[in-house]
Amino acid sequence: MKIRKNDTVLVIAGKDRGKTGKVRFAYPQKQKLLVEGINFIKKHSKARGQARQAGIIDLEAPINVSNVMLFCDKCNHPTRIGFRLLEDGKKVRICQSCREVID
Ligand SMILES: [Zn+2]
Repeated sequence: MKIRKNDTVLVIAGKDRGKTGKVRFAYPQKQKLLVEGINFIKKHSKARGQARQAGIIDLEAPINVSNVMLFCDKCNHPTRIGFRLLEDGKKVRICQSCREVID
């Protein structure tokens, strides 16, 4: 998957369109990402001992990777990801707008 944990992404589809957030978890098999502050769902919870309160809690739910774009912090733009092969054979991701190496 092109997008990984700790990347900043811009949501381009769905109810959180236009928001940015940091990727907290990536699920490559499902092509999904858990993004900080994005796609809150309400969940009903019952009290369990002292630790949890009963009621409705907001939880982030994973979103599809096709609904986000990587937000490049080098050029401050949502961007597509390209790849570049380094001299030592390592493949790195690059920003398609500013051509900077992302990792
Ligand atoms: Zn860039």
